[in-house]
Amino acid sequence: MHVLIVGAGIAGLGAAWALVRGGHRVTLLEQGPIPNPRGTSVDTHRLIRRAYGLETGYMRMITHAYAAWNRLWTDLGVRLCVDTGALSMSRLTDDWVAASLKALKRDGFLVEELDAKRLAARFPLVDPQGVEVAFLSPEGGVLLAERIVAALARWLAEKGANLRAAMRVASVDADAARVTLADGQTLGADLVLVAAGAWVAALAPTVAQRVEPSRQVLAYVDLPEDLARAWAQHPSLLCAERASGFYLVPPVFAPDGTQTRLKIGDHLFSRTGDAESDPRIAGTAETRAVFEQARGWLRDLDRYQLAEGKVCFYTVDRRPGRETFQSLPLGKAAWVMSNCSGHGFKFGACLGEAFADLVAGRRSPDSLTRYVAGEVV
Ligand SMILES: Cc1cc2nc3c(=O)[nH]c(=O)nc-3n(C[C@H](O)[C@H](O)[C@H](O)COP(=O)(O)OP(=O)(O)OC[C@H]3O[C@@H](n4cnc5c(N)ncnc54)[C@H](O)[C@@H]3O)c2cc1C
Repeated sequence: MHVLIVGAGIAGLGAAWALVRGGHRVTLLEQGPIPNPRGTSVDTHRLIRRAYGLETGYMRMITHAYAAWNRLWTDLGVRLCVDTGALSMSRLTDDWVAASLKALKRDGFLVEELDAKRLAARFPLVDPQGVEVAFLSPEGGVLLAERIVAALARWLAEKGANLRAAMRVASVDADAARVTLADGQTLGADLVLVAAGAWVAALAPTVAQRVEPSRQVLAYVDLPEDLARAWAQHPSLLCAERASGFYLVPPVFAPDGTQTRLKIGDHLFSRTGDAESDPRIAGTAETRAVFEQARGWLRDLDRYQLAEGKVCFYTVDRRPGRETFQSLPLGKAAWVMSNCSGHGFKFGACLGEAFADLVAGRRSPDSLTRYVAGEVV
């Protein structure tokens, strides 16, 4: 089958990889360069973690995610993930961290619970004061996102996929499997997959009713040598305090020997902004506000130097408290794959495989929609 994919982020590239492996023909259209630095997938790193609060479907899907990444590393000839484990901490006993711990234990996933004394002894970079629940999950790490996207694009081109940059799709004829480009040209295939990230609303109005774009700020931090060395051996960090909290991506060594930067972000959805027109550089005050969330959780924060702030867009579930990905049919010959809500990179390869299963007739449309939503795993 010939599948035309719109969008060269991890959703589009992951699907293209799985389709090419399955012997299908792929054309991939990207409005910008490939990789596109304005896309959500093009950042130094993204976390993979087993802890998932009450979202037990996604917690279980991590097993599929790791298996799919392993198949991808074999194809690429390089492992673009650095295992760190994930340390979760909370000052409350009834929030996301506690729910994650309960679910992980119930399903029999490995976790090491840490009381304040053991937390202080094992992880001297963090401040254990007031921490009520803490645990280390050995399953977790840093996916080298921009390297993955670039390597995937190279692999696809080598395998004969037709990757076309600077091709903006203006509309999709979802029954005829045809797209019209911004310059008026039309292209057809047997099936269209819209994987347009935060731009999805323009091409898939049914999904626009379910998700909205959200502008998120990330703080990149420079460290003195001793802290850089210590963080390179440290698990990623998830700190929660009721409605606030932050995550920290440690500076890890990529296979080429370069060390990435420490990054701090939060999971509070702004639900504002426009992925198309907004600049990707964040303001000083808003970057500082993200960075300051780590105060009280990390020792010696004044030795950490806030270097720069970046803006990244994703779409979020419009339903409060829900963070569900969307994969839905659009008409008779098109689908949408929207890995939204700020946690979709880690599933890029495995959801690509799930879509290829649909194309091959191994998965029903309803089962794909429910799997992607984390309902049946
Ligand atoms: C701050 C931040 C932190 C995150 N942290 C994590 C994390 O730790 N772990 C994790 O798993 N996930 C994380 N995510 C989420 C993850 O990055 C996204 O879920 C994932 O990258 C989305 O991939 P995508 O392919 O759907 O979108 P994108 O990467 O944005 O790709 C969509 C592509 O479609 C192109 N496009 C759009 N419209 C058109 C058109 N009309 N014609 C042609 N091309 C078009 C765009 O240019 C873009 O390149 C984070 C996201 C952000 C913003």
